[in-house]
Amino acid sequence: MRHLLDLSLAELRTWLADNGLPAYRAAQIQKWIYEKRAASFDEMTDLPRDLRERLVGEFQIFTSTTVAHKIADDGTEKLLLQWPDGQRIECVLIREGKRRTICISTQVGCAMGCVFCASGLDGVARNLTTGEILEQMLLLNRIQSTEERLSNIVVMGMGEPLANLDRLLPALDQAGRPDGLGIGGRHITISTVGLPPAMDRLTAMKTNYHLAVSLHAPNDELRNQIVPVNKNIRIPAILEAADRFFADNGRRLTFEYVLLGELNDRPEHARELVELLRGRTALLNVIPYNAVAGLPYKTPSHKAQERFLNILAEAGVNVQVRTRKGDKIDAACGQLRRSFPQPTDASAAVTIEPLATN
Ligand code: SAH
Repeated sequence: MRHLLDLSLAELRTWLADNGLPAYRAAQIQKWIYEKRAASFDEMTDLPRDLRERLVGEFQIFTSTTVAHKIADDGTEKLLLQWPDGQRIECVLIREGKRRTICISTQVGCAMGCVFCASGLDGVARNLTTGEILEQMLLLNRIQSTEERLSNIVVMGMGEPLANLDRLLPALDQAGRPDGLGIGGRHITISTVGLPPAMDRLTAMKTNYHLAVSLHAPNDELRNQIVPVNKNIRIPAILEAADRFFADNGRRLTFEYVLLGELNDRPEHARELVELLRGRTALLNVIPYNAVAGLPYKTPSHKAQERFLNILAEAGVNVQVRTRKGDKIDAACGQLRRSFPQPTDASAAVTIEPLATN
């Protein structure tokens, strides 16, 4: 069985042509999936029955099993999905006013090894396919009420998106199409640990995606400790690639800084960060660490957070604190997956679990 979502519109048309069927059926199928939120070919009542039967015999629309579905009081919903090979990933729907933001994963696990992050504790198992990336978007689309519409995508789930660009880009392209989810590049943020060659690739493609770079430290010595891949990259190379991205597409960059108690939250770190960002048109997103069970890192005290932010704001850095959504449902990167032990026989049960958050 093939994953239908792995096929582009052109490939679906080719399949139809190869089967002696008219190309316009492809648009009809897309409309059912993206606009009418269909989950099965049986629902596609304006397709001839024999075509529906051929599709059922050849393709699956969704290939995952939902292992857990958690709902927080603030409206955040999180899905833990299991693919046919037993691998699991997470994705999240965040509700803020009229905004409906989805946070999606690009890899099973992560190879970057950031010491505080739950996703990379066991390394990376594999890349997700284009279909698997799109499937997360469509499943999250379906859990909304019919009045709700997805408005934004953040590629901030499990994995390093720039290490799987070849599969991510077609998925984002489909998401952006008017006959897809209609979420344009300006409403899509790709978060990266900072891989300069892949950043340059995005720059050269002249995409209008928003780029967020996870910095987490103001100097290489500290960043090498927190983000081990930095030893082979180094901050100056990342900032130069970030500058080239800004120069070429004019989009302001975001730097993310996970604030870790007594590790990167001292006044001298804030002052060093001011120097690093001086002269750059950038937004600094400070994220107080969401503690991960079993790891020794701490959420910084309120006093330390305030002190850190004040130094930056007073120096004129455009800084904001990212409020945590759904933290009671383990919404930070890779945490839900760890809180569910993997069954040995890979048979997954569906558990719908509304969760009180206070
Ligand atoms: N690999 C990419 C995208 C995934 S992580 C990247 O590094 O940017 C998305 C963001 O969440 C990163 O800034 C990451 O450092 C942050 N993050 C991961 N675990 C976290 C935690 N427990 N608390 C707060 N932020 C976390």
